[in-house]
Amino acid sequence: MSKIDHLGIAVRSIDEALKFYRDQLGLDVHSRETVETEKVHAAMLPIGESRIELLEASDPDSVIAKFIEKRGEGLHHIAMTVPDLPAAIEKLKASGARILNEPRTGAGGHLYSFIHPSSTGGVLLELIQA
Ligand code: ZN
Repeated sequence: MSKIDHLGIAVRSIDEALKFYRDQLGLDVHSRETVETEKVHAAMLPIGESRIELLEASDPDSVIAKFIEKRGEGLHHIAMTVPDLPAAIEKLKASGARILNEPRTGAGGHLYSFIHPSSTGGVLLELIQA
């Protein structure tokens, strides 16, 4: 593990959330994109070596839409970088962790996988190849 890459926060509206994170807190928006495979709009705001990732559903079927429906806005996942994601996933699987998806390409062109909260103490964990 090299660092906490970002904290993913589920919001109803990125534009609304930016009134706090950008306008009041003073963070810069580094990038905005839509990740079709996850049905989300994402905005990345660097904060030191890490980032805040604001996530807004781009479709009512999105996991973010379902998360907000059930639990309201809030912390959705924590993301850590690893040097070799496929190797990390194989190791986790071998030790019985519940992997939600095989490594695939997501925001920023990085390989990522999610680990189920039942394996991590209740937090959805995203591993990203650095
Ligand atoms: Zn993320």
